[in-house]
Amino acid sequence: MNLCDIETIRAVLGRHGFHFSKSLGQNFLTDITVPERIAEMSGAREAGNVVEVGPGMGCLTAELCRRAEHVVSVELDRALLPVLAETMAEFDNFEVVQGDVLALDLAALCREKFGEGRAVACANLPYYITTPAITALMESGAFEHITVMVQKEVAERICAAPGTSAYSAFSIYVQYHAKAEILFDVPADCFVPRPKVDSAVLKLTPLAQPAVETRDEKLFFALVRAAFNMRRKTLVNALGPVLASAMSKEEIVSLVEAAGLDARIRGERLSLADYAKLADLASEKLN
Ligand code: SAM
Repeated sequence: MNLCDIETIRAVLGRHGFHFSKSLGQNFLTDITVPERIAEMSGAREAGNVVEVGPGMGCLTAELCRRAEHVVSVELDRALLPVLAETMAEFDNFEVVQGDVLALDLAALCREKFGEGRAVACANLPYYITTPAITALMESGAFEHITVMVQKEVAERICAAPGTSAYSAFSIYVQYHAKAEILFDVPADCFVPRPKVDSAVLKLTPLAQPAVETRDEKLFFALVRAAFNMRRKTLVNALGPVLASAMSKEEIVSLVEAAGLDARIRGERLSLADYAKLADLASEKLN
């Protein structure tokens, strides 16, 4: 059964009286080459175990089952369980866990299902939980690779370089913990119902050590957040809320200059290494 064929999708969903839920971010793929490529590039074959988020009707799930030993898919919508029972019937290496991926302990799920085995995560993510889902998948520490389809703009934001308009606090968070790359774009026409925006497949490979070394990780991210909360302001002014209780404005200027930066620079131009240097110097002053 081609689970991306529009007539098949209509027939199967019609048999089960299923209606798409916009609020659950339900846009199903209609081009079989897309889930084939995602599954092939996800590392599922090499790792053997996969956690999928949001199987929907199972088009990506089936491609993962063809390549991996064990696929566990987390689906929130109970109405899709009978659909998956039909579409996944030929696979004995598939199981579904009904629930909200954001409420699950993903590390515990992997231990329970795969023991000490290697695992990857893979998903065509529902748009409304993109950021928290990526954060939860990364923070679980359970996956060698996390390959997710997201809005193209979000993928670009995550991979963005300093000084670009897409560069954000979330770019820095992800790039601190993982290697991030866009594998390929997927136009909105490849889905039913058709979403308003194009998508892209993003592959995150968590790093053994953070991308930059910093003495005080909490302070590093506090500075990043402060800088991007007021990204139109200079870094010196934006850092005020975090540092002003301990330092005068002149001292903040000296700190920024000691990090090798121009006092008029904006936070959006700093690399991860710049933030690490700044945080280390600030932590010396604060302690
Ligand atoms: N994998 C299918 C595909 O590619 O055609 C469907 C992807 S669709 C974009 C997102 C799926 O995630 C839907 O099946 C939706 O019901 C499910 N979903 C939405 N919120 C979820 C949540 N919090 N936890 C787990 N699954 C969720």
